[in-house]
Parts: sequence; C-alpha cells; structure tokens
Amino acid sequence: MAYEKPLPVINEDTAPFWEYCHKHELRMQKCRQCGYIRFPASIVCPRCHSLEAEWTRLSGKGRVYSFIVYHQAYHPSYKDELPYAVAIIQLDEGPRMESNVIGCEMEDIKIDMPVEVIFDDVTDEVTLPKFNPAL
Ligand SMILES: [Zn+2]
Repeated sequence: MAYEKPLPVINEDTAPFWEYCHKHELRMQKCRQCGYIRFPASIVCPRCHSLEAEWTRLSGKGRVYSFIVYHQAYHPSYKDELPYAVAIIQLDEGPRMESNVIGCEMEDIKIDMPVEVIFDDVTDEVTLPKFNPAL
C-alpha cells in the first residue's frame, strides 16, 4: 500500500541525516572544532562558525521535552492513526528533534519520560526516526 503521509523534504544539507536513518543509525553533525552537535543539519557551526563537521552516531536515547496528542487528523492520511503523539525529544547528546512517541498508550506519555529511537521504514527511500519508551 502506498505511503500517503507527507514525507520530509530532503536537500543537500539534510541528505546524510536521512541516509543514515535509512541504515537505522541516528547521526547528526558534530563540529570538529568545538564538538557542538547540531540539528537540523547546516554547513556552519552556530557556536564557532567552523565549516568542519563529521556525522557522529548518537545513542538514540533521550527524554520527552514536550509533546502533544492529536485527536483530530489535520491531514487525511493520519485519520487511521488517531490519537497519535508528536513530541520534541531532548537527546542525551544535546540536540532536540521533533518526532513521534509510539509503542505506548498516549496517556502514558509524560514530560521527561526516557525514550529511545526506533526506525520506521515508511517507503523504499525514507526511514523516519521515532521514539519508544525506554525500558
Ligand atoms: Zn563549533
């Protein structure tokens, strides 16, 4: 069955992030000069302005920084998933990212809850990082 939900817009800067997701690895740019891990991807470090960065593998562990549970489908393709949670995940290594918390009842999601990444291969090309409650 075709995947009908919106897909990420992948550009030259973000392509490596999505390629690593496809390999089920959560990687973000780490500045070679000051060590700052940044997200979303960009060509320059916002801390020290260095252009030198490497794609470092993250633990995939973090905590729920904020979240909302959708009870209404604002895009028709989400109607069968209601209710679902969109969350900002505070990763252990520092960056925050938007994602979904899955693998539990919506009422069990709490601020500061430990979570860990899983990878959802939604199309042949695109894999979305999502988060499960950490055991
Ligand atoms: Zn830097």
